[in-house]
Amino acid sequence: MDFNDTPQEAEFRTKARAWLQKNAEPVNPDEAAPDVLGEREDPETIARSKAWQARKYDEGWAVLTWPKEYGGQGLGRMENVIWNQEEAKFVTPPNIYTIGHGMLGPTIMSHGTPEQKNQYIPSMARGQEVWCQLFSEPAAGSDLAGLRSTAVHDGDGWVLNGQKIWSTGAHYSDWGMIVVRTDPNVPKHAGLTYFIVDMRSPGIEIRPIKQINGGSGFNEVFFSDVRIPGENRLGAEGDGWRVALTTLMNERVAIGAGAGAGRFKDLFRLARQVKLGGRPAIEDGAVRQKLASIYVRSRGLHYTGLRTLSALSQGATPGPEGSIGKAVGAPLAQEIAAFAVELQGAAGALLDEEASVMEGLWQNVWLSAPGMRIAGGTDEILKNIIAERVLRLPPETRLDKDVAFRDVPSGPAGAGS
Ligand SMILES: Cc1cc2nc3c(=O)[nH]c(=O)nc-3n(C[C@H](O)[C@H](O)[C@H](O)COP(=O)(O)OP(=O)(O)OC[C@H]3O[C@@H](n4cnc5c(N)ncnc54)[C@H](O)[C@@H]3O)c2cc1C
Repeated sequence: MDFNDTPQEAEFRTKARAWLQKNAEPVNPDEAAPDVLGEREDPETIARSKAWQARKYDEGWAVLTWPKEYGGQGLGRMENVIWNQEEAKFVTPPNIYTIGHGMLGPTIMSHGTPEQKNQYIPSMARGQEVWCQLFSEPAAGSDLAGLRSTAVHDGDGWVLNGQKIWSTGAHYSDWGMIVVRTDPNVPKHAGLTYFIVDMRSPGIEIRPIKQINGGSGFNEVFFSDVRIPGENRLGAEGDGWRVALTTLMNERVAIGAGAGAGRFKDLFRLARQVKLGGRPAIEDGAVRQKLASIYVRSRGLHYTGLRTLSALSQGATPGPEGSIGKAVGAPLAQEIAAFAVELQGAAGALLDEEASVMEGLWQNVWLSAPGMRIAGGTDEILKNIIAERVLRLPPETRLDKDVAFRDVPSGPAGAGS
């Protein structure tokens, strides 16, 4: 892969930068990029994010890779990367659209009817309606197909009951995409159906979960006799697993890239700022060795990401190798944050915006890092995917493979009880 912009890419970059210069303030190069996790729940921040998205959309800078008919610009993935690189150089509100634009929009485009595409995609693109993903349940995360929330036919529509958990942004979302069990008499993957749900429907209760970093980015969501119109089914009845796989493949690409170790510069700045034995930490041999090790691995990850990108830009669809970026990037990001906290000595234990070094950035990143190793597939699950679907190693034993879901024993709560 040639890392230089082609003449067309260079022209696009210049245009993107010019628009950003007119519309946003550049990031101060001497300041660390903010840790936006945990700010997202405040309504004023959500309003700023929506306003920024609308401005980009109105002037042709939103959802660049989406087809024009759905409000996108019909551009390639390289232009999208260039845009993201340029946008990151400016102070902009947090992106609350990773799930909608990165995962759910592409799922509707792949599986939706023409009416569904026309109804949901353009408003999703402009960002005035926010979407959440309602997949995980208390007893179904890694084993998502073991989920127990149900939907049953009711006249022209469906009635939904059950509970979802860890639903990011459900408390400020207008729409959700949900997978539920519609047939317990067939093996677990075969009895699922995928729906679009209006988050303001009667019978939905959203309870925020308090996180270790103080934020409340995700929620428990309870469904009690929630009615869903028949036209909100996405894909065929019983085909929910196939539709959900489209969302999950896009998820690994959407969040995999962001999980990485992009904070090397901030770490380097910290090592120059803090003291070790009365001298700047950067002068210590062991610190330098660790920084070099982190740098080498960060670059390896960066180039692996570019290799995936290169394949995608040549028309490949997101595949299981998309798991590699997150499998390596999330642990590395955690290691970087842990080292940064350690470098601060006793002050590392302090999380206070005014008193902490770099306004508590590293403490926040460190506290969020375990979540990044779980969200969108845990380390172990990603390794299983790589082992089975990239390296073609023998698969795990699956005792429930051809068994009707209601006959699968699953602990005291019992799927079949
Ligand atoms: C920050 C964050 C945001 C999230 N946002 C959303 C969201 O918006 N929507 C949503 O639906 N969900 C969301 N989730 C939930 C996430 O998808 C699940 O937490 C994840 O899939 C793991 O499921 P679980 O928590 O039930 O853990 P479990 O699946 O119960 O796993 C527990 C442990 O067992 C290990 N394990 C499980 N199965 C295997 C196996 N076969 N082999 C080896 N080890 C195994 C796991 O690796 C893990 O260490 C989010 C989670 C986080 C942390």
